[in-house]
Amino acid sequence: MAVQYSLFFIQRFKGKVLFNVPMSEYTSIKIGGPADVMAFPQDEGDLKDILAFAEAKSFPFYILGGGTNLLVRDGGIRSIVINMSEGFKDIVWEDETNASVGAGVRLSELLFQCRERGLTGFEFASGIPGTIGGAVMMNAGAYGGEMKDIVEGVEVIGKKGVKNFIPKKDLAFAYRKAEVPKGAAVTRAHMKFEKSTPDAVKEKIRDLKERRKTTAHITFPNAGSVFRNPENKSAGRLIEEAGLKGERSGDAQISEVHANYIVNLGAAKAKDVLSLMALIRDRVYSQKGVVLEPEIKVIGEDQ
Ligand SMILES: Cc1cc2nc3c(=O)[nH]c(=O)nc-3n(C[C@H](O)[C@H](O)[C@H](O)COP(=O)(O)OP(=O)(O)OC[C@H]3O[C@@H](n4cnc5c(N)ncnc54)[C@H](O)[C@@H]3O)c2cc1C
Repeated sequence: MAVQYSLFFIQRFKGKVLFNVPMSEYTSIKIGGPADVMAFPQDEGDLKDILAFAEAKSFPFYILGGGTNLLVRDGGIRSIVINMSEGFKDIVWEDETNASVGAGVRLSELLFQCRERGLTGFEFASGIPGTIGGAVMMNAGAYGGEMKDIVEGVEVIGKKGVKNFIPKKDLAFAYRKAEVPKGAAVTRAHMKFEKSTPDAVKEKIRDLKERRKTTAHITFPNAGSVFRNPENKSAGRLIEEAGLKGERSGDAQISEVHANYIVNLGAAKAKDVLSLMALIRDRVYSQKGVVLEPEIKVIGEDQ
């Protein structure tokens, strides 16, 4: 309640603020209990205000992109969720090959523009959902390409609402991760592509879509790959070889199409997904001697 009343005093906030929001509506796997508060900053001013406010009041907060790499526990989130996916949606072309891209831009939208302009380097993003902010933080990638190949640096707003530019070298990109100061929100990514032709880019996208055909057949809600690939190994293959494809807990199922995906057949709870994740880890360790580490982020409280 204290959070609600206090938020109403941020008179300048232009975005919407929602209370008691089911996270199942904001995650691709459609699972998750309620967040106490969700704020949708429209621009840097809003974001500065909400971050400074949270810090001044010692309210915890969580930064959300498209929610496509996320499992929220069934008890929900006792924090302000700062949803970056409704503001920061502009793409500014600085010259022929360089763009400054808002954190809320969908990867598919940027890929569309690259294709129209005949720019190569971003084709790997074909079929990856989510926002630019989330993709930077996860160093999202596929088929040999990843965000680190094209990101030159990012703009962030961090503690006390202070704005900063972080150059690529300080982002310390690694497999499915990047470093930004704790609690900072990425607002823009500066990206550089190479010149090609619309037809050649279209052809590359078509080729990658063909390679992605297996997972494209997963029709139930999911959060992408659940576990990171151990060095020189495929998590999916290890899980499949452990005989776990199709295994269920409640309405959560280890996909019959790709074993590193857990799907929500309808009314799955986070606890069902977590119990399948525990089963996978135990079975793969006992049968293969390999410890699998989660790729998806698990947040929130148990019910
Ligand atoms: C069907 C499917 C296929 C997928 N395929 C791939 C794939 O091939 N390769 C791949 O790498 N991933 C894949 N993913 C996973 C996911 O789409 C990517 O990791 C994506 O980049 C996450 O972006 P998001 O905006 O949804 O981030 P979210 O899931 O919302 O957040 C991810 C992390 O980033 C942080 N974050 C988000 N936005 C910001 C911001 N603006 N500032 C600071 N922190 C932020 C969050 O706090 C969280 O820690 C797939 C997912 C699905 C559902």
